[in-house]
This record gives sequence, C-alpha cells and structure tokens, in this order.
Amino acid sequence: MENTKANNFLQTIIADDIKDGIVKEVVTRFPPEPNGFLHVGHAKAICLNFGLAETYGGRCNLRFDDTNPEKESQEYIDSIQEDVRWLGYQWSGDVLFASTYFDQFFAWAIYLVEAGNAYVCDLSAQQAREYRGTLTEVGKNSPYRNRSIEDNLGLLEAMKAGEFADGEKVLRAKIDMASPNMNMRDPILYRIRKLPHHQTGSDWVIYPTYDFAHGQEDAIEGITHSICTLEFEDHRPLYDWFHQHLPIGNKPNQYEFGRLHLNYTVTSKRKLKQLVDQGFVSGWNDPRMPTLAGLRRRGYTARAIRKFCDMIGVTRSDGIVDVAMLEHAIRDDLNENAPRAMCVLNPLKVVLTNYPEGQVEELMVPAHPNREQMGERLVPFSGELFIDAEDFREQANKKFKRLVIGKRVRLRNAYVIEADEVVWDDAGKICEVRARIIEDTLGRDPADGVKAKGVIQWVSADRGERAQVRVYDRLFTDEAPDRGDKNFLDYLNPNALRTIEEAMIEPSLTEALPEQNFQFERIGYFVADRYDHSAAAPVFNMTIGLRDTWNS
Ligand code: ATP
Ligand code: MG
Repeated sequence: MENTKANNFLQTIIADDIKDGIVKEVVTRFPPEPNGFLHVGHAKAICLNFGLAETYGGRCNLRFDDTNPEKESQEYIDSIQEDVRWLGYQWSGDVLFASTYFDQFFAWAIYLVEAGNAYVCDLSAQQAREYRGTLTEVGKNSPYRNRSIEDNLGLLEAMKAGEFADGEKVLRAKIDMASPNMNMRDPILYRIRKLPHHQTGSDWVIYPTYDFAHGQEDAIEGITHSICTLEFEDHRPLYDWFHQHLPIGNKPNQYEFGRLHLNYTVTSKRKLKQLVDQGFVSGWNDPRMPTLAGLRRRGYTARAIRKFCDMIGVTRSDGIVDVAMLEHAIRDDLNENAPRAMCVLNPLKVVLTNYPEGQVEELMVPAHPNREQMGERLVPFSGELFIDAEDFREQANKKFKRLVIGKRVRLRNAYVIEADEVVWDDAGKICEVRARIIEDTLGRDPADGVKAKGVIQWVSADRGERAQVRVYDRLFTDEAPDRGDKNFLDYLNPNALRTIEEAMIEPSLTEALPEQNFQFERIGYFVADRYDHSAAAPVFNMTIGLRDTWNS
C-alpha cells in the first residue's frame, strides 16, 4: 500500500536520488498546454510539482507545452499564470515556452534522420491507422520506411519550407511496428499544420508532437523528475527512447501519478470549453465551474485548495474523490477564518411595537465567535427589521424553534422578541409581523424565565442594505456525468444558480472588499464577487452551505 500522506512515493524516490547523489538540485516543472483554463485537477499537479521542489529546496518551472497552435491562445497563457500565482506558487525564472525550443527540436529531427532513425512517411491518416495494427495484431512497415537518408532530409526540409499540404506527409521515428507498445510503432514526430502560432507567428508550418517535444523540453531545462499522470505510462519507453537516440547529456526520468477525478464534476478542458462556448455557464470563471478561476470567484481560498490536494495525497492509482472532500476543505477553512455577518435572503418585515420610534442601538458584536483577535463589528438595531420569511410561522409544532405567534425567539446578537400578530397584504400574503422586544434581554435570558427556544438572524430595516446574492449548487446532478457513453450535458443541474435580487445585509457588509469571505450566520459561506461587487451595489456569491445537505 502506498503511503499517501507525509511521504508519498515520489518523495521517496526523490529523497533516495538525493541520498545516492544522483540528483543535486531537484528540478520539476508544471507543463500545461495553454488550451483552456486550469481546473481543480491541475491544482493537484501544481501542488505536487511546486510542492516537491519546495520540500527539497529545488525549483519548479512553469512551461507552456505549446506545440498545438490550433487550440491555444494568449488568454489561456495569462489565466494559467494568474492561477498558479493565486494558488501561492512562484515558478523559477521566466515563464518558459516549448515553442522557444522549436529550432532545437528540428535539429534533433535531422539528427534522427541522419542516423537512420526517422523517415518521412506519405501514408494518409487512414492508411497509417491500418498499418499500425491493434493491441492484438502487429503493425506493418510503411512502404516509405526505407527511403534513403538523402531523400528523407530533402523531404523534411521541404515539409518545413511549406511545400506540402496539411496531412500530406509526416516525420516518423523508425522504431518497431511489431512492438507490443503501440506508442513505439513508428510514432509521428512532426506534422504539417499551416497555422500561425501565438508565440512563433508564421515561422513554422510543421509542429512537433507531444511525444517528440515533451521529453526534450525536460532535457533542455534540466528537469530531474518529470512527473505526469498515469495515462502517459505507456509513453515512457518512447520518452526514454528519444533520450537514448539523441545527443542529450542530461536524461530526465518520467514518473506517473494518478489523475484527480472528482465526482459530480468534469475535469477535462475540452468539456469545460464546451460549457463555455455553448453558453451553459457565463465563462471559464463562472462560479459553478471547477476551474481555479471559477472556484476562486465562488469563494474558495487557495489555502483550502492546497489543503484539499494535501488530503487526497498522491498515489500511483486512479481513483474518484468525493467532491464532499473539497467542500469539507473550504468549510473548514472558512469556519476558522471567515468573519461572521448577518444576511436575510428572503426578507419579512418585523415591527417591534414597544421599541421607541426612530431609536437605533449600535450593538458591538464579535466578528468571530471564538477568535477575539478578529475584532468586532457594529450592528445597528432598530424598531423595524427583517427576518427570513422561512423563520416565521403563524403556528408551528415544537420542532420549529423560530418565530411563531405567541412565542419567543432570540435575535442573534440582540434581544429576545415575542410575536403578536401578522399583517396581510392585498394579495393575502403575510407582509409584516408585529412583535415586541422583551426588555433587558441583551446577552441575558428573560427575567420572567420564559426562554427563547431558538436564535435567528435579522437585519435592521432602516440601516440594512440591499444586496444581490447568487446561490450556487453543484453543476451536475449525476455523480459521474461523463462516464462511459453518457453525455455530460444531459446532467446539468438547472438549479445550480439562483439569483436573489433583494436580499438584506447588515451595513458593515457594504465595506466588504471584492473576494472577501464571510459566514452569513445560519446560512453558509459567501464571498463578495470579485468583479461585480461594490459598496453601492453589493453582490455576494454563495461558496457553500454550512452543512452538507446534498445527500439528506
Ligand atoms: P485536460 O484533459 O483537462 O486537457 P491535460 O492533461 O490535457 O488535461 P495539460 O494542460 O496537458 O492538461 O496538463 C498539465 C499538467 O496537469 C499535466 O502534467 C497533467 O498531467 C496535469 N493534469 C491535468 N489534469 C489533471 C488531473 N485531473 N489530475 C492531476 N493532474 C492533472
Ligand atoms: Mg491536453
């Protein structure tokens, strides 16, 4: 059984390499392709790579694996850097781009051709598939496999010069069409792709494949431990083959770990892009998205995400993690660190008939129930307030420990009140509750011994402010929305966003800074929206409810 906590298998490998003198300085890298925003799965890879460098006093590069211009963009490059920094990591030196090594890759391609280890192949994609064989059937040699070195060199230069159309020719390594490992059956090194590149412009019309680029990028950068996810395990022999057949001194090693899969979530940039492009969400940073930008806007803290990555550990097997664990990590963090505040989502007016008209009491209440150092805030109390409509019933049984006609309830941080009667509007809806405060109940029980059973939150009608509150739920209703041949779009939760335009908040909340987290007492954790919140028009996003109510 792998040790998943203090000392995962990669730490063991690295510690041994250092002890044996094989490695002096640990160099890792995080190598995203800039074809989308980072998601929570990437957080695992980031924490792992940067974390290992940190633990062993080494360094970690941020390198864009930008070999596929078709799907890449500057927007993604920018967002990825922002997200890595937000998570709390700083890469070593400048941001790196695989595309800055294109000349070197091409020189190495020529080297392989000259050594008789690569050839230009004219098979169409369809033919190449047929020649490739299957897992149970060996492949066949391409009829172009025995071209002379001179012919290959000439054709490769012509490919580079743009003399052929997309797909007309490819450069392949000459390895073994009978290998049981499909990746070793003369894999493609270069493809013709007549597209401008975001970094190299129109310099190139041929682009290296992931396999031909990745290990060489690692070698150029002196990566000591190239850590990737398990689906690349079968690529490792090829990764090593290039290092053996190229004039490369430094030979990095590839290690694989299990990808993060979260239930109720999709973690594939392609699918997330579909949600964005087809308008199912408002963008990559929509708070419903499992992207880092989305989680951030939802109110997740970098600290909680790092903690979560720590909790799930790193093993050599793929497993599905319950999204409740991620939710637990943020609840835990915010319970500890978020100041408390009061908000009423569905306001019902309460008029306190025995409270002096026009009087306002400025109550000083703690920002956090058990962290004095977080200070106090001022909460104005007045004769007209709002409570949540859900917290009132004309009649109720004993289980309902909120406000009921003829019964008492404690207003959080303030008085005990007793409800007397209700007022209906013309439509027959309760629009007001008339009640009384019980004197002398600030911080103490009523003198007559009739205690309040419950506590509810409230906001002064005179001094409270209106706010827009966006209440979020999980984006998918199914535990495994993209498993098997299911279409994840069929399992979108139509109630994943509910916008409440007229919530009431205590006045101190208008001073909230964008991205500041709070616990709205009795409701959940909320964050001032990073983009839309202002003192004049407050907007709060629900991060997560106080308790896990999903399965109840
Ligand atoms: P996607 O399928 O979402 O596009 P990817 O693996 O193609 O993911 P890259 O940009 O190539 O995305 O990933 C950069 C790094 O992040 C790689 O090392 C990759 O292995 C790692 N990574 C991506 N997704 C996960 C995940 N779910 N769990 C752990 N690591 C991941
Ligand atoms: Mg990818």
